[in-house]
Amino acid sequence: MNRLVHCLGVLALLARPLAGQTAPDTVLHKEVLGDGIYLFRAPTELDVWTSSNTVVIVNDEDVTVFDANTRPSTTRKVIAEIRKITNKPVRILINSHFHMDHWSGNDEYVKAFPGVQIVATTETRDYMKRSQPLFEDAFTSVMRGAQTRLETATRTGKEPDGSPLRPEYQRALQGNVDELARWVAEMRSVRRVLPTIAFRDSLILWSGRREFRLVSATGDALGSTVLYLPAERLLVTGDVLVSPEDGHGPPPWGAGAYGLSAWLQTLRRLDALDVAVIVPGQGPAMHDKTYLDLTARLYASVIGQVQAALERGAGSLADVQASVQVDSIGAMYTPGKAPSEAFHRWVRGMARQAMKQSLDAQLDD
Ligand SMILES: [Zn+2]
Repeated sequence: MNRLVHCLGVLALLARPLAGQTAPDTVLHKEVLGDGIYLFRAPTELDVWTSSNTVVIVNDEDVTVFDANTRPSTTRKVIAEIRKITNKPVRILINSHFHMDHWSGNDEYVKAFPGVQIVATTETRDYMKRSQPLFEDAFTSVMRGAQTRLETATRTGKEPDGSPLRPEYQRALQGNVDELARWVAEMRSVRRVLPTIAFRDSLILWSGRREFRLVSATGDALGSTVLYLPAERLLVTGDVLVSPEDGHGPPPWGAGAYGLSAWLQTLRRLDALDVAVIVPGQGPAMHDKTYLDLTARLYASVIGQVQAALERGAGSLADVQASVQVDSIGAMYTPGKAPSEAFHRWVRGMARQAMKQSLDAQLDD
C-alpha cells in the first residue's frame, strides 16, 4: 500500500497539467466493443492511478456490469451513461477483485438498481471484508503530502527543483490539494457493499442468449475474476492485465508486488482462449493478444533468469536482480524507445518476487 500511496501522490500531481499543456482528462471515455457491449474508462485526471474500467453488457432483458470504479461520483457517471443506452435494469454486477478501484461504487448500483446481485470469488469477498480501512488511509495520506508540498512551495517561494515559484505551479498544487480533499470526503462516505453471490473456481451465468463464463484467476490480487464471453470472443481481465496507456509508465504495473508464477499461469490460460477483444483493468481495449503475449514472455523470462542465477550460486538479492536482463522484451512494449527507469524498477521488483518463490523464502524488506 505504501508504494501505491507514493505512486498516487506523484501521479496526482503530474496528472494536473500546468498552463499550456494538454487539457485535463475529466470525462468518461466510451468505447463500443460489440453489439450492446460498452467500455467506460474512468477519467485519469479525476481518478488518477485508480481510473479503472467498467464494461457494460446489455442483454435481452437486463444489463451485466463488470467492476464499479473508485469514486462513487464516477460510478454515478457510468450509471447515467447506462440509462442513456437502455432502460433495462442492471441485474448482475461483477467485482473483479478487492482493490478499491473495482468495487467502491457497489452501493451506487444497489441504490440505482434495487435487487442487483453482486458476484465475486469467495477470496475476493473475504479480502473486501478485511481491507476497508485502507481506503481512507491511502487517500488521506496522499492529501497530506500534497498539502505539505503546497505549504513548502508557498513558504519558500520555490518549486521543488529550486526555481522561483510560478503562479501557475502554485495554482496547480492548490487544485491538486482541493481535488484530493474531495476524493477523501468521497471515500469516507462510501458504504461498502459486499458481493451477494460468491464462487470458488468458476461460474457460468446466462442472460437470454448471452453466456458469461467467470473464472477465478491470479493477477495483481489472488482470487481475481476474469470474465469470458465465448460467443462474443470478449475477455475482460480486471487487473490481470493493465494497459500500458494507463499513465503508470510501462507495464507490467503491479508485477513487482505479487506472486509471478501463478500470474504467469493465468496469462497462459487466457492466451489459450479464442478472443477478438481484451479489456484490461485500465486503459483502452486491445484487439489482439500482443500485449498479453509480451507480458507472459516477460514474466517467464524473469522467472527463468532468476532461477538460473540461483542455481549458479547467486546469494544476494542484488546479485540476482543484476543478472536479469529483459531489455529486449522491455523495448517491445515501447517501440522506438529504450525501456524506462520505471520498467527497470518493476523488473527489479519482479526479480525479488521470483527469488522469494524460487527459494520458498521470505526476504527482508
Ligand atoms: Zn488491482
